[in-house]
Amino acid sequence: MLNVPAAAFPAPGSQQRAARGGRSKVPLKPGRSLMDWIRLTKSGKDLTGLKGRLIEVTEEELAKHNKTDDCWICIRGLVYNVTPYMEYHPGGEGELMKAAGADGTDLFDQVHRWVNYESMLKECLVGRMALKPIALPKESTSALSEEKKCLNGMLPESKIVGTSKSLAPSYDWFQTDCSVTVVVYTKQKGMNSEMVILDYEDSRLRGEIIIRDYSYLLNIELSNAVQEDIAVHVAEKVGKVEIVLKKIDNIPWKKLGQPLESHNSFIKRTDQGLYYRKCKLISKTDVTHDTKLFCLLLPQSTHFQVPVGQHVYLKQIVTGKEIVKPYTPVSCSLQTHFKEPSCHDGACLFLMIKIYPSGLFSSELDRLQIGDYIYVSNPEGSFQKSQVQTLEDLFLLAAGTGFTPMIKLLNYVLTNVNSLWTVKLMFFNKTEDDILWRDQLEQLILQDKRFEAQFILSEPSKEWNGKRGKISSSLLSEFFKRSKQDSKVLICICGSAPFTEQGERFLKDLGYCKEEIHSFTA
Ligand code: FAD
Ligand code: NAD
Repeated sequence: MLNVPAAAFPAPGSQQRAARGGRSKVPLKPGRSLMDWIRLTKSGKDLTGLKGRLIEVTEEELAKHNKTDDCWICIRGLVYNVTPYMEYHPGGEGELMKAAGADGTDLFDQVHRWVNYESMLKECLVGRMALKPIALPKESTSALSEEKKCLNGMLPESKIVGTSKSLAPSYDWFQTDCSVTVVVYTKQKGMNSEMVILDYEDSRLRGEIIIRDYSYLLNIELSNAVQEDIAVHVAEKVGKVEIVLKKIDNIPWKKLGQPLESHNSFIKRTDQGLYYRKCKLISKTDVTHDTKLFCLLLPQSTHFQVPVGQHVYLKQIVTGKEIVKPYTPVSCSLQTHFKEPSCHDGACLFLMIKIYPSGLFSSELDRLQIGDYIYVSNPEGSFQKSQVQTLEDLFLLAAGTGFTPMIKLLNYVLTNVNSLWTVKLMFFNKTEDDILWRDQLEQLILQDKRFEAQFILSEPSKEWNGKRGKISSSLLSEFFKRSKQDSKVLICICGSAPFTEQGERFLKDLGYCKEEIHSFTA
């Protein structure tokens, strides 16, 4: 619904205008870009019609505001008057009207739960939904005392939503003179360190453990200070996660700390809000004339690895508003067995980003100086390594920066998947100068005989001897040939929305089934 950040574009007819899954972007009238919206919100104009007053809104009142010229929507208990925003919404009025006079939280979450609507619609805030009186369930008081107990080292069952209690993780803690160890029993086999995301900031310890579509959260204000240097050990077979905190004052702790929001909960991953940490830009190098490799340093106390095929969200304040965009972390080289350079005090995140001169977010990124900070979210994405584990043929279809998810994927399969016979990349670009890491790709072709790549240019120079054109059924069938009949194959697609949609359609026409195609999308 409120897919706000992309609002400054696209130009009518632009390739980025049509979005996937029936969610189309509509042509916005001139003067209705995201920047224009930001300007309007800062103009001091009364956008709610309530002259700055905040009110309690009943369901009956909300339902009355269900027209295009008087439209209120509730998101997570807060009610916004989105009438002035209608013409600025990239998804068009129709999308907003689906939630007119009602609770739009689910609809919003389905489309872009990462969008910072709070910041974008701050001046449209009408107030809070009035609470209906509800009787407190009996367990609520015992849940509270259980929380207290757990922080003294007992083993509490987590607050579970929508899954069986027996599957829910629990935690415990113990201490020595100089350390405190928090142990999470995930009850899952095959845990690995990619599933544990840990942050420690301003005495708050936040540990998120990802178990398939679910997330278990530890969120505690620690009772005593600890060092930044936190160790995380994962006992993969038994599913135990140990977080080792080093005490600063080597004194006994009476309790672990105070529970914070959603502490000890085990809920759907999509219901867990995105968490951002501040990362420092430590280098910025040219990849092509318009694309750069950004290296960000994670805080020393942060533990996270971005799994193959997943993306993160970057957040920046652009002219006073929080803007969020997704980017896919890459390895810093395509050479398999290449060791990532170690950064002095923490882990690094590499991002290959194309700078669009009139792009709202990327042009702002380009203005960042070495030493500046940017917010980075937890990783997200639907790709699972299990999809490639026993694969025989992997076909990759990338357009422009749609190459980014292919980088870690290539490194991973060529190093880890023993069943693999062929990996074929079709890489679509406008001109030769746009081909990302062409040298590295050509080197990889020489190094690994399973790997082949074909470059196809849509705006080639006269001298170009290679393939020309855009994605088509004939180009695909010519290059993507199975190593043997009925081989186990996966085709990964990434590029602009129209490119991905066409790719999916052509592949289905060529007889590939749904399970054999994975599209990278947000
Ligand atoms: P926008 O402001 O959204 O504009 C985009 C384009 O429209 C530019 O060409 C811009 O020049 C043009 N434009 C803007 N305004 C106008 C106008 N008024 N008239 C005409 N043209 C206009 N990108 C990467 O580079 N690397 C990645 O790793 C990466 N990973 C991604 C992962 C996912 C899951 C997804 C969905 C996208 C990813 N992207 C990636 C794309 C990225 O999220 C942004 O969409 C991209 O950086 C453009 O954002 P922007 O704000 O700079 O441009
Ligand atoms: P680009 O505009 O330079 O185009 C590169 C090639 O894509 C073109 O040469 C053409 O062959 C093909 N292409 C472009 N528009 C097409 C269309 N309408 N129909 C068919 N083919 C088309 O590419 P860019 O500026 O690098 O943009 C890359 C796109 O990939 C962006 O839309 C970006 O959001 C997306 N992306 C997505 C992810 C993800 O994980 N979902 C990751 C990175 C990039």
